[in-house]
Amino acid sequence: MNERKLVAAAALVGLMLYGVAGLLTGGTTEAQAKSPKTTGKACAPSQAELEKRYEETEKLVSAGSTDKRPGIKPWTDIQGAAEDLTWPAKYYLPWPAGESHKVYQSWNGNRIGPPRATHMQAQNYYAWDFNIVRGEYICAARDGTVTLAHDAEPAGKENDNCLRIRHADGEESVYAHIGSGTSLVKVGDKVLAGQKICQGSNESQHLHFVIWKNMVDYPCRFIDYAATNGVPQYGASPVSGNKGTPQEVIEQIKSDFAKGEAAFKAGKFDEALRFFRLATQREVLIEAYENALARIEECKAEMEKEISAAIEEARKGDYPGADKRFKELKKRYGDKEAQDRIEKALLDLKNDPAFKEWAAKQIAQRAWMDAKAAEEKEDWDKALRIYRDLLKVYKKEDAEYKDLKKKIQEIEIKKGLKD
Ligand SMILES: [Zn+2]
Repeated sequence: MNERKLVAAAALVGLMLYGVAGLLTGGTTEAQAKSPKTTGKACAPSQAELEKRYEETEKLVSAGSTDKRPGIKPWTDIQGAAEDLTWPAKYYLPWPAGESHKVYQSWNGNRIGPPRATHMQAQNYYAWDFNIVRGEYICAARDGTVTLAHDAEPAGKENDNCLRIRHADGEESVYAHIGSGTSLVKVGDKVLAGQKICQGSNESQHLHFVIWKNMVDYPCRFIDYAATNGVPQYGASPVSGNKGTPQEVIEQIKSDFAKGEAAFKAGKFDEALRFFRLATQREVLIEAYENALARIEECKAEMEKEISAAIEEARKGDYPGADKRFKELKKRYGDKEAQDRIEKALLDLKNDPAFKEWAAKQIAQRAWMDAKAAEEKEDWDKALRIYRDLLKVYKKEDAEYKDLKKKIQEIEIKKGLKD
């Protein structure tokens, strides 16, 4: 990382940390920015002030931007073409299917659309505010595990209530400003997409929804919102299709798991591993998915046993045999992770001092035989060359070293007689 990038990253982290602390208090600012009866102290920023803040935010976000986390410019460039978007639609709209809620604020404080200026930090740049109030339900946007369920703040402080769900790829969906005492889940609960988790609050009048990874926000697209590529803009009223994982996906997972189980029970761990990987491609917290995850570990343990056996074989002296076994293993356990493991085992073996010593002796043995054959053919030069090379393999106190010295002397005498 060069210095410029380092400074930019440090700035981003600084902003992020500020933002994390600010999230639980920042809601008030959002509510005030929306409220028509704002006091002089909290009056809305002027257009010129906003433009300046947009510019600063864009600079920071583009400094930390990648294909998966584009800056504002790349995002506006690709907004029109769904097939060009590089981040997958993994989430459903976070409320019950069939209902709609208006977008109060979209990405980057509505840089695309009328200005509203609170989503301008590294942890809320890609956030939405959806108009959801008390009595209206908020649902999990994707299957996952609850990591935060804070609804204890009373009316007047409801903006500090927040719920978070962690997903298989390390992303977290964040549901902020939820209604006091409305959480239907607790930390550690496994929830399914479409499951009711809490209600909105009358204080903020909106759900602040964002995806985080390591506490930095990431862009997300909604599976059930095709307009503007799954990214609802200011003023839109998207209708949720959040009925959870489609039945056909669930059936496919169950079927892949069953095939994996059959192979596993027949001792075909390579085949089983393939099916269990298929069954866990998409996180759906049903029994078959969870069991397949556990079975993957068991299959890997079985593969490890086979790798150990091949290593053992090599140590016993059958390197060509072990090499063949490794090649077979690589062919059978086709996926990348397995291949890497086998490659590593081979490399470890080649670097092992005991194996190196064994390999050197194997080569030496062959050399002794070659030299003997050369002697029989009275090819003294060749025999001499091999014996001299072999001197390097042994230490001076070795019996072989002394034998070699004797051999070399003998041949030199023979050569001398001949010449
Ligand atoms: Zn917000």
